[in-house]
Amino acid sequence: MMPRPRPEILDIAPYVPGESKLDGNRTIKLSSNEGAFGPPPGAMAAYHAAAADLHRYPDGGTVALREAIGARFGLDPKRIVCGNGSDDLLQQLTLSYCGHGDEVIMSTHGFVYYQIVGQYAGAVVRKAPEPDMRTDVDAMLAQLAPATRVVFVANPNNPTGSMLTGRELARLRAGLPEEVLLVVDAAYAEYVEDIEYEAGARLVDAAANTVMTRTFSKMFGLGGIRVGWCYAPEAIVDVLNRVRGPFNVSLPAQAAAIAAIAEPGWVEAGRAHNTRWRDWLGGQLTALGIKVWPSAGNFILADFASAEGARAADAHLRAHGIIVRGVTGYGLPQALRITIGTEEECRAVATAMAEFAMPSG
Ligand SMILES: *Cc1c(COP(=O)(O)O)cnc(C)c1O
Repeated sequence: MMPRPRPEILDIAPYVPGESKLDGNRTIKLSSNEGAFGPPPGAMAAYHAAAADLHRYPDGGTVALREAIGARFGLDPKRIVCGNGSDDLLQQLTLSYCGHGDEVIMSTHGFVYYQIVGQYAGAVVRKAPEPDMRTDVDAMLAQLAPATRVVFVANPNNPTGSMLTGRELARLRAGLPEEVLLVVDAAYAEYVEDIEYEAGARLVDAAANTVMTRTFSKMFGLGGIRVGWCYAPEAIVDVLNRVRGPFNVSLPAQAAAIAAIAEPGWVEAGRAHNTRWRDWLGGQLTALGIKVWPSAGNFILADFASAEGARAADAHLRAHGIIVRGVTGYGLPQALRITIGTEEECRAVATAMAEFAMPSG
């Protein structure tokens, strides 16, 4: 006999991270939507300076970090909870608000971690169809059932890049019963230029049933050190503070994140670069006859019309030392997700793809 997990645990397909390395000397990693410019210099300095205090426990209340986030984004620090990446918070929220027999709703090509945490909680995960690779508010609402407890929306969504406007998001919230938790995952909020966009704070302020999650892993360039945060109604903050790990953000992570927020011009420069080169790379691929879905994030979804086409393109890019992300696990075997890197990296992708011949058939 051996210890047995709850049966639903073994139905979970483990998360597959973007690959990092190829054989050969030059690898361009565009598989995990990491910031294009490495960590902010001030964050690196703060990380090094934290070394002398590594014997100390971190501040379990992340007070200075929450104050820095609050000041930067105009939010009340008391309603912010930090986590070991936003994945940590997504997991704690799901386990806290749903369990066996309950249901969660996500979109068909929504961020795959929602499925993992939903199953972990013992819930049934319902997926709303996503016509034209875009979260559809009515399709999401059509999945509602008496057992629905949590609804997840990534906005912008990974891997499709699609974005809901603030009005569409508000319409989704208005269509959900008050007791259903809406989790707005705004991991890519810092990249969005569209004035119709609203990351989610307004919905959090409007009622007691919406949470916005954010991360330092993308624009702020700190994916390796794991810092995420959420903005939530007081009662939900209270719940998270009961269940989260008491020291769930490490000491160097807190120091680096505070410094990243203070880095002058970092977000503005990163956003401008991203928009410019996302448009450029999208245009190059489109000119080569490859369909590129509109993206508000730091990546594009290139559609090769068939799984065979996507596999061939992936192999071709790998032969040029470029790793992108296959998204078969998202129900998109015909597509590849390509992170917007530096100018040089974007040019390398375009150059390699210009030499790519689609398999005919
Ligand atoms: C990258 C990403 C996250 C961030 O995860 P962290 O745990 O904060 O690194 C969350 N949601 C989506 C949709 C993402 O793409």
